[in-house]
Amino acid sequence: MNAAVAPELPATTLDAGKLAQLGQLTEGLTPAELYWVAAWSAAKAAQAQRGGVAVRPVAGAEPSQRLTIVYGSQTGNARRLAEQLARRSSDAGLPVRLLRADAYPQRELAQERYLAVVISTQGEGEPPDDARGFVEFIAGKRAPKLSSLQFGVLGLGDSSYPQFCAIGRQLDARLAELGGTRFAPLGEADVDVETVATPWLDRTLEQAREVLKTAPQVARVTPLHAVAKHAAYSREQPFAATVLANQRIVARDSERDVRHVELSLEGSGLHYRPGDALGVWPRNPPALVAQWLDALQLDGEREVAHQGRTLPLTRWLGAEREITRLSRPFVKTLAELGKHAELLDLLGADQAAGLAELLTRDQPIDLLRRYPAQWQPEALLAALRPLTPRLYSIASSAEAVGEEVHLTVAVVDYQAHGSTHWGAASTFLAAADEDGKVLVFIESNERFRLPADPARDIIMIGPGTGVAPFRAFVQERQESGAAGRNWLFFGNRHFAQDFLYQTEWQDALKRGALHRLDLAFSRDLANKTYVQDRLRENGAELHAWLKGGAHLYVCGDSAHMARDVHAALIELVATHGGLSPDDAKAWLDELLQQGRYARDVY
Ligand code: NAP
Repeated sequence: MNAAVAPELPATTLDAGKLAQLGQLTEGLTPAELYWVAAWSAAKAAQAQRGGVAVRPVAGAEPSQRLTIVYGSQTGNARRLAEQLARRSSDAGLPVRLLRADAYPQRELAQERYLAVVISTQGEGEPPDDARGFVEFIAGKRAPKLSSLQFGVLGLGDSSYPQFCAIGRQLDARLAELGGTRFAPLGEADVDVETVATPWLDRTLEQAREVLKTAPQVARVTPLHAVAKHAAYSREQPFAATVLANQRIVARDSERDVRHVELSLEGSGLHYRPGDALGVWPRNPPALVAQWLDALQLDGEREVAHQGRTLPLTRWLGAEREITRLSRPFVKTLAELGKHAELLDLLGADQAAGLAELLTRDQPIDLLRRYPAQWQPEALLAALRPLTPRLYSIASSAEAVGEEVHLTVAVVDYQAHGSTHWGAASTFLAAADEDGKVLVFIESNERFRLPADPARDIIMIGPGTGVAPFRAFVQERQESGAAGRNWLFFGNRHFAQDFLYQTEWQDALKRGALHRLDLAFSRDLANKTYVQDRLRENGAELHAWLKGGAHLYVCGDSAHMARDVHAALIELVATHGGLSPDDAKAWLDELLQQGRYARDVY
């Protein structure tokens, strides 16, 4: 069965209005450049409607004369790096095209001559949603022979997960198996992406210059983002946002602490859209830094030089290094330094499951206490990854709150191995005083957007703090007077304690800004009830909404919830659509491809 409703038709024509809108961004461009900006913008708008992708046209470049950059990105890091490579290549005068993996025309792979892939790996070794089709195609039987291809793969991952960079590794091996030649060895970037990514990008650009320098010059592409006024603030240069409010939004007797945090973006020039995330640069909990110094018997005042900077050790641990998440390289250094046989064993190839359990269960402080070693401060810093920003799905619409941004933050704070364990950013935000400052930036998420057609219905599934972006969606649809209906599935532990934004949802129902609300409180009854139980109970109606063209969104935990919700969706589409499970799965995959089923999960 085909998806019952055609994807929304993109507006591909460039009318005077659109050009006028572009005018403010394109002052000073020649007519030819303006054409490319407009074409690029139209392509971007068209693609955004079916999943959001920026395609930059290359005028007349033969495959042998251009660099094709393909990215697959869940949280935006791979996209950012791919864009960086495209911008630098374009600035160097090289013909380049940049494509999100789901917009890559697979039939062109056989003709491709110079291909760079930047791709992340999700939790259990999965590709990002936007690259599922691309990865499957390359892994599958239909993939062509690639003996004329030169390629490079930059994998992104998190070495606290056992399947670190699995998708990057898989693509790198498969492209070589198909006959391609590497122009750069596989890059495996950890959460401190730049450490590996920067040299990889440098090398790729250098190689591309060598290979493509003799190619005839083609019309230069002027991508819109190159001419749009760059926001002054970015991941590298974050804005110091003032804390306007920091409120606990669960009952006093809740087992969890969840905060609603409001920050001011006034004067920053930062803009965001519903679906985007806010990047937060955290500081590590001072109490944890004290525990580290105690466990290591090191003096926090001691000045330590590392990578060209000299700072007191307290500062290194508090603001510069990841100390709440374990990584494989850290375990390895500790095992070798202390000659701990048990740890060394865990690092063996046959102990993957044991190591995975350790990496997800324990924090570094647990290992420092359990496996003593003589650490020198310099060696310690070298073994730790740089502190990286955390992303929170934005819980507000700028249309409703102006120059503010709101977050929903579950505070990670639990007892294990006889002591308190904290999450870095959530603890930092929970402790932020009103009027205090938080360093932030906007991370756009083109794959998680409201339908361009406001008459479309939307179905939102967001248990726990996964409800955050749906607060933004409902605010936005209310402000814009969107005619489509809004249906929210929310779940949490207890009705009385953990019903996040209860009064807001109730008001929205009364006002007609929310049309349906289905709730699943998992720990109120003897048997657990989850959002997917509510999906099944409402299967017929939900299926009717989907057949009518509704867009479907899931936000929250990727490891269990998103997987189980997906299984429930397959089941209900099969039951109510009269399909086999395989056909129901294929139907949902098509919705994912079209961007009509979008997930913001991690
Ligand atoms: P949580 O407490 O982990 O879970 C919320 C509810 O989901 C609970 O009732 C829980 O039930 C239930 N649940 C557990 N397993 C489930 C499953 N397999 N299927 C369906 N429901 C299940 O929620 P949270 O701490 O607020 O965290 C939500 C997740 O969203 C985190 O992984 C976070 O990283 C992610 N996230 C957050 C944001 C954000 O901006 N804040 C954005 C994107 C993703 P029980 O505990 O009773 O089993």
